[in-house]
Amino acid sequence: MAQTLQDFENLVNGKRIAARGGQWLDSYDPYRGEPWARIPRCAQSDVDDAVAAARAAFRSGPWPAMTPTERGKLLVRLAGLIERDAERLGRLETQDNGKLIAEMGAQTRYMAEWYRYFGGLADKIEGRVLPMDKPSRFTFTRHEPLGVVAMITAWNSPLLLLSWKLAAALAAGNTAVIKPSEHASVSTLEFVSLFEEAGFPPGVVNTVTGLGPDVGAALASHPDVAKVAFTGGDMTGQKIYEAGAPSLKRVSLELGGKSANIIFADANLDAAVMGAVSGIFAASGQTCIAGSRLLVHRSVHDEVVERLTEVARTAKMGNPAEPGTQVGPVTTQPQRAHILKMIEAGKADGARCVMGGGTPKDPAFAQGWFVEPTIFTGVSNDMRVARIEVFGPVLSIIAFDDDAEAIRIANDSPYGLASGLWTRDIGRAINASRAMESGTVWVNTYRAVSFMAPFGGYKRSGIGRESGQESIYEFLQTKTVWFETEESTSNPFIIR
Ligand code: NDP
Repeated sequence: MAQTLQDFENLVNGKRIAARGGQWLDSYDPYRGEPWARIPRCAQSDVDDAVAAARAAFRSGPWPAMTPTERGKLLVRLAGLIERDAERLGRLETQDNGKLIAEMGAQTRYMAEWYRYFGGLADKIEGRVLPMDKPSRFTFTRHEPLGVVAMITAWNSPLLLLSWKLAAALAAGNTAVIKPSEHASVSTLEFVSLFEEAGFPPGVVNTVTGLGPDVGAALASHPDVAKVAFTGGDMTGQKIYEAGAPSLKRVSLELGGKSANIIFADANLDAAVMGAVSGIFAASGQTCIAGSRLLVHRSVHDEVVERLTEVARTAKMGNPAEPGTQVGPVTTQPQRAHILKMIEAGKADGARCVMGGGTPKDPAFAQGWFVEPTIFTGVSNDMRVARIEVFGPVLSIIAFDDDAEAIRIANDSPYGLASGLWTRDIGRAINASRAMESGTVWVNTYRAVSFMAPFGGYKRSGIGRESGQESIYEFLQTKTVWFETEESTSNPFIIR
């Protein structure tokens, strides 16, 4: 069996290498439920090698000597290569994590825009000359890179989530060690080849694959890592925060959510229903921004449930590599077990399962890791399906009677990643968008992202922002440089 698996190696200091210990991990195809590739199972010594390569590339050689304009040009060149290879990279991701090819081709092409945008921004980061309160002083600030940035990513959209960090970090002049999820590392391992082709010096971008508690934890506590940029679950994020504390690392965390998608009585129900479907069933619900709590005004509740189930029932389940498929498998077996457990929790807590509620009966799906799109009505916000992130195709519908109640329920969550508002009333939309405790609020749309729009969480959904101009400062530190222009010897015992 092992001979038929394709091996993908890490990239360290411009060279392809396996783990020092010679160990490998199988990577599974979620549609077939069987291994299709192998990735190196690294350990502490491999992490040390990758960090040392990134540190050397940060401190000496061509990278620190480049001007921001030159760095920007490399990033723009990379964007072109991504567009060229978008289909190939998308196909690898589909095979590795089961995401729909229908979405992946477009997503991978769009990913190029992050490199183009941050490539353009690289030489527009300016310090300031300060006006100063003492005329003999000439004082200015400059923004400098941090050093080695460790990037730890989740399995649901490995390349896109990586690009949100990597484009900004490189534009700022840092170097990177990337640890993708053991469940979906292949696309990242292939993608990093493009950096050499674009002209990035060796050691600027490195990878180290393996298990989270081994490799991820070793990176998060490594003394030569200046910052960890992480995407994943909140409990892992907390561990990374704690692991970085002894060396006072900077940390940015893009974590999970339990986002509220609110349909008010005056909404365009056709659009709202489509938004609700896209919010929870796209990518089989495996998105951090899943609109997993659908809050519906009681006056339109039954109509929304009816229309929603009608659309969701006709969604075509199948092979994610086929362009017509709308619902693919979930990425891992433990994830499927978690989703099914949460569905049972919903039933046990008294929610009504009006659609789905288990694994598909059709034997065509017996091998792969499929879960039926599932809808619960009669959910109250204290039930487990309303509080715990499912990260699967499970929708909890909660009825409300007025705006204040909707906002109270939406904000009654430990998370605060995103929210959706469906209404034609501008005043209501503005007031509710102000009241939402979430990093993103969508009005009459859902699941929209852009390279120019800051993204990140309130509360347990994260720390820091990715995308948009301000996010580059997450990868920079400010230096203040003071000049004294007059020759004077003032009293040394008094602050100057
Ligand atoms: P995990 O938190 O389990 O894993 C994320 C990454 O952390 C993986 O690379 C994992 O490696 C690694 N890891 C695991 N344990 C440790 C550790 N102790 N120290 C360091 N690294 C570790 O998340 P999932 O992969 O299960 O992804 C799902 C979660 O990600 C959901 O909560 C989802 O909401 C969130 N997410 C957030 C997004 C956002 O932008 N806000 C976007 C997408 C997802 P390995 O997999 O090899 O164990």
